[in-house]
Amino acid sequence: MSSARSKFEEIGRILRAHQRFAVMSHVRPDGDALGSQLALSLSLQQLGKDVRVWNEEGMLEKYSFLPRAELVTKPPSTPEDFDCAIALDTAIQNRLGTALGAVRSAKIWINIDHHPSNPGYGDVIHVDPDAPATAEIIFRLIKSQSLPFNRDIAENLYAAISTDTGSFQYPKTSAHTFEIAAELIRAGLDVGRLNQQLYENYPRRRLELLRELLRTMRFEHGDRVASVSLSLKTSAGLGVLPEDNEGLIDHLRAVRGVIVAVFFEELADGKVRVSMRSKSEVVDVSAICQKFGGGGHTLAAGARVPGTLAEVEKKVMEKIGNVLESHS
Ligand code: 5GP
Ligand code: MN
Repeated sequence: MSSARSKFEEIGRILRAHQRFAVMSHVRPDGDALGSQLALSLSLQQLGKDVRVWNEEGMLEKYSFLPRAELVTKPPSTPEDFDCAIALDTAIQNRLGTALGAVRSAKIWINIDHHPSNPGYGDVIHVDPDAPATAEIIFRLIKSQSLPFNRDIAENLYAAISTDTGSFQYPKTSAHTFEIAAELIRAGLDVGRLNQQLYENYPRRRLELLRELLRTMRFEHGDRVASVSLSLKTSAGLGVLPEDNEGLIDHLRAVRGVIVAVFFEELADGKVRVSMRSKSEVVDVSAICQKFGGGGHTLAAGARVPGTLAEVEKKVMEKIGNVLESHS
């Protein structure tokens, strides 16, 4: 705990001492990536800093209701120089995608994350694998260092924590997480409205996508592994965006007896995006995904694997089967 405090003090000093910042997060951003970026950037702006808020995909349509969402832009094609570059929620530096290439130079790289697989790149590293969301770390940083805080920042942090904890359900959700949520609500945010924007405002095509995915549903390895697949043809036919499938895998994990849920998504670059969820600490899906060059958390991980849908499905399912057998 005291080492976290001194790390926050070090980061706080760096933030106050410099002027030009790039605040970035991972490709295929989720609520935690974008909410954490916006929260920290708004706090830095209030301190009078110049801040670029970059994500390879820019702001997603589904999170465009977040306060000051317009600050998140795609990185420019001409690289820029910074005093300080900050990677948030990004397990390996390459997952910053084109944002990484847009930083020509930075005197200091800060790495703030909660992925256990983060190898600790950068000059100042604060990786807390016990944090259920990167936004929880950002909240602690802001509060411990008396950085600017307001309702817009609170809403971004709440959205980030809510989405990364599966609405305060996943095992890393702690008493402290609820205490933070209470403080964020006290900052004046409207929980009902925010939850509607987060969870009751999906485009119809997301449900149409779910219908197609359920047609591909398979149960294997004694019904302990459930999977679905999305081909390029199906996603083009439905006109779905990559962001539309976030969370659909939870339908598989929610089935009694299922330990591992897998989502296979064919990508245009000849790879398959594999998204994995586990219901048991005994089956570490991050370890499985690392065997395929990916990473993540014990219970939620992913990888991009070269090959056709059928090839990748076969390889990945075999590996999961081996892991299950070694534990049964
Ligand atoms: P999702 O399945 O929601 O895309 O990702 C689940 C978790 O695994 C996230 O925390 C994400 O950062 C991580 N993850 C997903 N894909 C990859 C990948 O290709 N490489 C690495 N290192 N981590 C990934
Ligand atoms: Mn996260």
